[in-house]
Amino acid sequence: MKVKVLLTAVCFTAVATVAAAPAHAEWVNRVTDGIMGTRITVELWSEERAKAEAAIDAVLDEMRHIDESMSTYKPTSEVSLVNARAADGPMHISKELFDLLVKAKEYSVITDGAFDITYASVGYMYNFPKHIRPDDVQIAKALPAVDYRHVILDAKNQTVQFSQKGVRIDLGGIAKGYSVDCGIDVLKARGFTRAYVSAGGDSRILGDRFGKPWMVGIRDPRKGEGEVIASIPLVDAAISTSGDYERFFDEGGVRYHHIIDPHTGHSASKVRSATVIGPYATRTDGLSKTAFVLGPEKAMEIYNRIDDIDAIIVKLDGTVIYSKGMQRGKATPPPPAP
Ligand code: ADP
Ligand code: MG
Repeated sequence: MKVKVLLTAVCFTAVATVAAAPAHAEWVNRVTDGIMGTRITVELWSEERAKAEAAIDAVLDEMRHIDESMSTYKPTSEVSLVNARAADGPMHISKELFDLLVKAKEYSVITDGAFDITYASVGYMYNFPKHIRPDDVQIAKALPAVDYRHVILDAKNQTVQFSQKGVRIDLGGIAKGYSVDCGIDVLKARGFTRAYVSAGGDSRILGDRFGKPWMVGIRDPRKGEGEVIASIPLVDAAISTSGDYERFFDEGGVRYHHIIDPHTGHSASKVRSATVIGPYATRTDGLSKTAFVLGPEKAMEIYNRIDDIDAIIVKLDGTVIYSKGMQRGKATPPPPAP
């Protein structure tokens, strides 16, 4: 029932008039596995197949570049070098990484510290596929290094420094969303006006589907990939879902999964999934982890405070709650600068 309300409520951006599609044009779609350890999907409307394929290649190249520079799994990435050296003094970094670190800090402030890239100071000791987790002594020892305020950014010199030893950062909670935004920028620059780009749980949509919105499904956290709790109609919007079913292992009745509470160093398990809808995937990705750490009520309070964001949270008991904007069907305002 709620879902029906939701569908009509959020249909705000659907375009009323149906534009005619040129006869030779088509939707071109490609699914690629393995970049950033996830599945990338690109779909776009193109009047020329070769141009579409070249554009998709360019999107994937951009994503590979982001993976190369930001993955902590790659010892030579810029982020790995920062982790190795930034406690020794200010370190000059690329403009791209600097700007993303600025944004990460902004999301830490907005979420009362729930989003915190220094979670990695403890987080690096988890290995979910191998069922490895730190014990309480290891967590207690590493926890003082978890605090986004330890990351000192100097805009004038474009440097980063860690205020103490033991601090590590990981952009896994924001890089996929960022790569999706970059992918959309690549397509826009080539003149495409209708497209969908997704990396794992982070997606962004450019334009509509000739008078109709794109329908993006939100997976039921306790069912298979095809089972959705709601389908959201979207035009020119981003959507990110975080779930406790993504990277996890169960041990002694406890689920250990990949979102870490920066205050405790343990898995943050206060909801089953959280979906955030907004103008940019960097932003929706950065905000979708909050509910796991702060719990549904506090997180919804924060989501409701942020003008350009809507949210859907699946609580631990399976009930679903919606942000105010989705309940009353407010129109999404034009996006501010990312
Ligand atoms: P996905 O990686 O599938 O996009 P999420 O968007 O839910 O999934 O992001 C989960 C990732 O966020 C984790 O794998 C980890 O890299 C990172 N992360 C975990 N806890 C935090 C946190 N408290 N703050 C910021 N990033 C986090
Ligand atoms: Mg994500």
